Amino acid sequence: MASIFSMIIAGDIPSYKVAEDENYYAFLDINPLAKGHTLVVPKREEDYIFDLSDEELSGMVKFAKRVAEKQKSVFGCKKVAMVVLGLEVPHAHIHLIPMNSEADVDFRKAKLQLTKEEFIEIAESIKVE
Ligand code: AMP
Repeated sequence: MASIFSMIIAGDIPSYKVAEDENYYAFLDINPLAKGHTLVVPKREEDYIFDLSDEELSGMVKFAKRVAEKQKSVFGCKKVAMVVLGLEVPHAHIHLIPMNSEADVDFRKAKLQLTKEEFIEIAESIKVE
């Protein structure tokens, strides 16, 4: 069965899209640690990120870099954290989290509660064409 992220990529489940190309897709995490918290995924479904080919992995990081540059310019944060962790969804993904301190990237803290309108506004503001 397709992963929830493959269903998002196919458009079968809605998402707040930030960027897309032939091989990768970026969208807002629905349980964000910070405004603009984005997930980057390869369109080819692979559970473990280090099972991607060298080309797929380097392309994914380059794609994530473009998103992170946009996040940094829009939010004026110190850095954008790039985090790979978790076992929840068996589809490789990079978390991109605007950060001003290491506490901003603590996955144990309460997630932000945003309205649909806020998600739409944030996704629009960091959209990468
Ligand atoms: P993890 O595998 O621990 O990195 O967690 C998967 C991440 O995917 C979590 O941060 C979830 O909030 C996020 N997530 C799960 N389902 C969706 C969805 N439908 N849209 C956006 N983000 C999602």
